[in-house]
Amino acid sequence: MGDVSPQSYFDRQMRVSGWGAVGQKRLTHARVLVVGLGGLGCPVASALARAGVGGLILADADRVEASNLPRQTLFTLAECGELKVEAARRALVQANPWINIETTGRVDSFQVRQLIEKADLVIEGSDNLETKFLVHDACRAGGKPLVLGALYQWECLTTTFRFDRSPSPCWRCLYPEQPPDGCVGVCSEVGVAGALAGVAGNLMALVATRLLLGHETVEGTIVFDATDGTTRTLKWHQRPDCSCAQALGDWSWLETYQNSRAQKKLSVSWDALAPSQRAVVVDLREQEEIRDGEWAWFEKHGSVVIHRPWSQWALASQVWNPEISYLLVCAKGFRSEKALQTLPPGLRAYSLSGGLKGLAVYSV
Ligand SMILES: [Zn+2]
Repeated sequence: MGDVSPQSYFDRQMRVSGWGAVGQKRLTHARVLVVGLGGLGCPVASALARAGVGGLILADADRVEASNLPRQTLFTLAECGELKVEAARRALVQANPWINIETTGRVDSFQVRQLIEKADLVIEGSDNLETKFLVHDACRAGGKPLVLGALYQWECLTTTFRFDRSPSPCWRCLYPEQPPDGCVGVCSEVGVAGALAGVAGNLMALVATRLLLGHETVEGTIVFDATDGTTRTLKWHQRPDCSCAQALGDWSWLETYQNSRAQKKLSVSWDALAPSQRAVVVDLREQEEIRDGEWAWFEKHGSVVIHRPWSQWALASQVWNPEISYLLVCAKGFRSEKALQTLPPGLRAYSLSGGLKGLAVYSV
């Protein structure tokens, strides 16, 4: 570290109008929750750490995979198989030795409130609508500004919600009910251009930095289309009958949400199952997602593997043996949970919670 001082490290940005030593001090005292360390979370966390944000809470349960590397710039090939939050912590502390970093797994309804309340601002960069809506609703209740990003092939969106000032339009002004997961393709299915994640993530970080400095910024959605270079800004309007009018401070929905999750008790972790409960592993992933050695890992642990790709799930005729217990698996647990709902009642079947991402099979 030598004799590097914060003063010299942050010198260039403090010269920017509206920043200065006062702004730098505000950043030093700020704590930001970053949900998801994927293509969006990586550039955001990197930019905020290097800008001098004093504290980051990193939330992600996944491990680094080779297919992450084209856009997830905090990781290296040598770190494949490691928890993303740990690899990210190492990279960020190397960039900014004064930063304080906390880590946690996937954000769920049981710890979302505590996480939101600890943060001054929230970055949402996860890849599924369930988490996005949960984090959105929690920020709305907790009165925390939220910067949310999304990627789709050549297009990215950055949306800012000013829940720190009321009334502020919310996502549910447009979508009263959460659209089902799977209605918008995730990166692993529809693909994403790596550099686009950098554009979106840095835009999110820029918006967040302005908010933390106490400045105005775009409230609404910035859409960037890389195919023709156009940028559009969409303003949000409050729907008069939206629940956001009374949302601040109301956490009563959270218990209902938790109860609905508890009903999904058939969604379980690998360790919670006896070998007989996972006698047959049903792999719902597409052929190109499956790596050499993964099925051997299941077989080594006493399970038989059958392949039923989700893309053909509804088309293929399914024959199930009521004497056997099945464990449905996919990359993240979304497809397996959906497939579970379609199985005949009474059949002994489970869905691997969180998918294969968090499992040791990924380090084979
Ligand atoms: Zn609303």
